[in-house]
Amino acid sequence: MRNLRRVVVVGAALAGLRAVQSLRREGFDGDITLIGAEKHTPYNRPPLSKSVLRGDDDVSLPGAEELDDHWLRGRQAVRLRTTDKTVLLDDGSEVGYDGLVIATGARPRSVPGPLDGMHTLRTIEDALALRAELESGAEHLVIIGGGFIGGEVASTARVLGVKVTVVDAGPYPMSRTLGTATGQWLAAHHERNGVELISGVRVSGVRGTKRVTGVTLTDGRNIPADLVVAAAGVTPNTEWLEGSGLALDDGLLCDATLFARGHDDIVAAGDVARWPHEMYDGELVRVEHWSNANDQGGVAAKNLLAGRQDARPYLEVPSFATHVHGARIQTAGLPHLADEAQIVAGSLEEDRFAVAFTRRGVATGAVAVNSPKDWIRLKREITASGGR
Ligand SMILES: Cc1cc2nc3c(=O)[nH]c(=O)nc-3n(C[C@H](O)[C@H](O)[C@H](O)COP(=O)(O)OP(=O)(O)OC[C@H]3O[C@@H](n4cnc5c(N)ncnc54)[C@H](O)[C@@H]3O)c2cc1C
Repeated sequence: MRNLRRVVVVGAALAGLRAVQSLRREGFDGDITLIGAEKHTPYNRPPLSKSVLRGDDDVSLPGAEELDDHWLRGRQAVRLRTTDKTVLLDDGSEVGYDGLVIATGARPRSVPGPLDGMHTLRTIEDALALRAELESGAEHLVIIGGGFIGGEVASTARVLGVKVTVVDAGPYPMSRTLGTATGQWLAAHHERNGVELISGVRVSGVRGTKRVTGVTLTDGRNIPADLVVAAAGVTPNTEWLEGSGLALDDGLLCDATLFARGHDDIVAAGDVARWPHEMYDGELVRVEHWSNANDQGGVAAKNLLAGRQDARPYLEVPSFATHVHGARIQTAGLPHLADEAQIVAGSLEEDRFAVAFTRRGVATGAVAVNSPKDWIRLKREITASGGR
């Protein structure tokens, strides 16, 4: 183990928490300072678009109760000076480090026009505010973006009897992530469950003076709405790293072992990290999934302690699950990097199927709808082709 005395972890959520746990598990007995912009103990985000909207407030994250290290809550890192290894905070204070873990995650892309009734969904406060609106008799919800968060919010709103329109820029919702066949199936599934789906256009603006009354689409149509959720992707939180000399491009650019490019004392993990995945011929990827942040936080911290020479590449196969109108959709690997897709079990008509994705003949991705056993089998095949 390298001789580090002070490790600073910036970002006190899933990846940051797992990094702290890993440091202690690996025997690091120096100082750890965890810096988090939110005031809460690290919590779980997946329930925010699911059970929390239905009234269950449990967002606890196993392990968060173990945090007894020096922890700066509600404090934001605003700059990084690599020359003298210092993180500058929003209250003017400075924290020095020998080793730094960057786990600042991502935030929703900005929404057009701040009006009452406009929401994004990333924090517990966001979820409680949206829930209050859904419970207080919203009539017509427009969701900008048909990704997994959009799909989950649509499901909950339909159960509550709210009229829902989803506006999605792609030909079919989630077709980049899930492939065309599953995207087509998902479009039909939304429609069968009473969701109006408008594909192939974007929202160009919102209407209303104090409260939102509707959205305008790029094709000129106006859609009425008294509630709007913008769920059109996320932006990695890297602004505080500008001018630091770290390489930034849709995230913090790392090498295969999660060290920031050109820096032996800085690693990154979770939604903010973009690294060359060796299973995919070194293609740069940034993965916005729970399991990625969960696993990467630990591996990044372990590598930081080991040092670049003894670090191991991060090879875990990404995986993800969502529920949309009662259907369980699971993915493994990175289907969007494939050059071929084939339905290998079930059929779209049965609402139960699995799709295997290959790249130059090698298993690279899988999507399963209501087929958990097929998903496990396909994930094993992907792992056997070079992942973990
Ligand atoms: C509503 C919702 C539902 C989801 N559902 C699923 C799901 O079903 N399955 C799945 O696999 N994934 C899901 N995800 C994605 C998953 O939650 C994320 O991939 C995961 O939370 C990423 O963790 P992270 O620690 O990398 O980043 P984040 O969770 O984004 O945490 C980063 C933390 O860093 C803090 N921070 C940012 N900048 C600074 C700064 N400058 N200084 C100090 N602190 C800072 C932030 O406030 C935040 O607390 C969902 C996400 C959301 C929002």
